[in-house]
Amino acid sequence: MGSISTQHRSGPGGARTLGELRNIPDFDARTASLSVKDELRRNLLRAIEKNEPLFPGVHGYEDTVVPQIVNALLSRHNFILLGLRGQAKSRILRGLIDLLDEQIPIVPGCEIHDNPLAPLCSACRARVATEGDRLPIAWLSRDDRYVEKLATPDVTIADMLGDIDPIKAAHAGLNLADELTMHYGLLPRANRGIFAINELPDLAGKIQVGLFNILQEGDVQIKGYPIRLKLDVMLVFTANPEDYTARGKIITPLKDRIGSEIRTHYPATRQNAMAITAQEAWTERAGSTKIDIPNYVREVVEEVAFQARGERKIDKRSGVSQRLPITTLELVVSNAERRALLAGEKVVVPRVTDVYAALPSITGKFELEYEGELRGAEQVARDLIRSAVGSVFTGMFDGTDTRSVVEWFDLGGALTLSDNSSSDEVIAQTRCVQGLRELAEKTGLAAGATAPAVASAIDFVLEGLYAQRKISRTDDRRYSAAESAPRPRNRREEAAMDDTIPMPSSKKKYYN
Ligand SMILES: [Zn+2]
Repeated sequence: MGSISTQHRSGPGGARTLGELRNIPDFDARTASLSVKDELRRNLLRAIEKNEPLFPGVHGYEDTVVPQIVNALLSRHNFILLGLRGQAKSRILRGLIDLLDEQIPIVPGCEIHDNPLAPLCSACRARVATEGDRLPIAWLSRDDRYVEKLATPDVTIADMLGDIDPIKAAHAGLNLADELTMHYGLLPRANRGIFAINELPDLAGKIQVGLFNILQEGDVQIKGYPIRLKLDVMLVFTANPEDYTARGKIITPLKDRIGSEIRTHYPATRQNAMAITAQEAWTERAGSTKIDIPNYVREVVEEVAFQARGERKIDKRSGVSQRLPITTLELVVSNAERRALLAGEKVVVPRVTDVYAALPSITGKFELEYEGELRGAEQVARDLIRSAVGSVFTGMFDGTDTRSVVEWFDLGGALTLSDNSSSDEVIAQTRCVQGLRELAEKTGLAAGATAPAVASAIDFVLEGLYAQRKISRTDDRRYSAAESAPRPRNRREEAAMDDTIPMPSSKKKYYN
């Protein structure tokens, strides 16, 4: 928000007074006449012409959401993003800041950032009239022109639009109807900027009516007093699609006044999703150790979110945020970091089993359906991880002969590993399992791979075979022969045997 401290003292051409501002060639025409929407439009057209990236850091929307936003901006629409949680809605809206001018001139001290060339409030108009070209001006940076508000049912008209400040009025001896006695709300303070309201349907009906009036009349009337301000604001909103379409949660005339309705979505591919997670998760950590995350671990973490989005035990209306894989990957790395430190290892290589240590970042990221409640969040999360490991493993090992490893267990072999087993322990303990090391090599281990990398690959193969039900394991990580006898002949039969855990398959089930 544009407090005095954030108002810059100089801007284009170093203009510090209204007179200096007027002397900047072409400056008047640009600032005095352009509305925020025209400014966004002009800058967007320039960016498109120069082929500059739009909304950098937003992945997977290049062909879907971004073109629709561009069209809405070019049409000077107020728009709403409809999407489930964790679909980068806020990030996109904040990305609009980059399309604003770097700085605009304002009347210093004015709460609604009046344009010195065309002031709205009577105080600024009076100052311009008396001080003329000597009127000092300040510069407001674009970051301070973005106002964001999370809608809640208790937001009042006073919060949004403003209120009469009786103390101000008493002190100044002013008429209540004078705008100098106003305490401005969020919207007037967003004048000449962008006002984003998140979760619009949560606003009380009468506030929605207030917003409708602003969109309809283009001005704001505060608390029934005859103070009308022709505010210049770009309004953008977000909402959960279910709430937005639910009867009674949003007033129809308001809906009708929002120029564009744009649907966001979860990443369509695992690759897109991994790019987002890689960008957002805190994994580049300062320390004495090197962190090396195998690709299959990244894929499993991502696949947990995809499986969750397709899981019938999980409520689809609230969705599964992209924050799930982001925070999960962070915990996975931390668990590996902790183990490496205990074992005195210099390279941190997360394992697939570290994903189980990330349950605290998974269970809170979805709402359960009744059936899920019965199973419990933690068990649902474990099922998802197992299913995700199976999906990634099957994708990588499809057509690979795993019999020699499975037979070792079928002949009575058993292994007990733990979360804290050092890399050397994992390698030593599993050395007797014929063919295991060869399978581990197939995960993409480089020649001369470090012990932590080899241990992680071995862990992935064991967990993959467990996910495929070719071997079994207990919750305390004892691997042994599959319990089911006689062994099913193919995967389809296996899937039919157990309907409590969806069988991993390479078929994507996450479009919803
Ligand atoms: Zn003013």
